[in-house]
Amino acid sequence: MSDETPICSAKGCRTTAVWVLAWNNPKIHTPERRKTWLACEEHREHLAQFLGVRGMLKDVVPLEEWQAAEDTRG
Ligand SMILES: [Zn+2]
Repeated sequence: MSDETPICSAKGCRTTAVWVLAWNNPKIHTPERRKTWLACEEHREHLAQFLGVRGMLKDVVPLEEWQAAEDTRG
């Protein structure tokens, strides 16, 4: 377990992340694989759009919900 504050993945941004963007690049990842980016409120749309136009965006989930799901997975 880490108690580090999750920070937005956008370049140069130091804001606490509140969203998780789950993505998959079909050219290099198997279909069930999920990579994640963290995003603050401001950059969620920008990052989602970046992944979306490349057909790589799978899911956008509130960070709290994502972490709760990870906990139940053990
Ligand atoms: Zn940000």
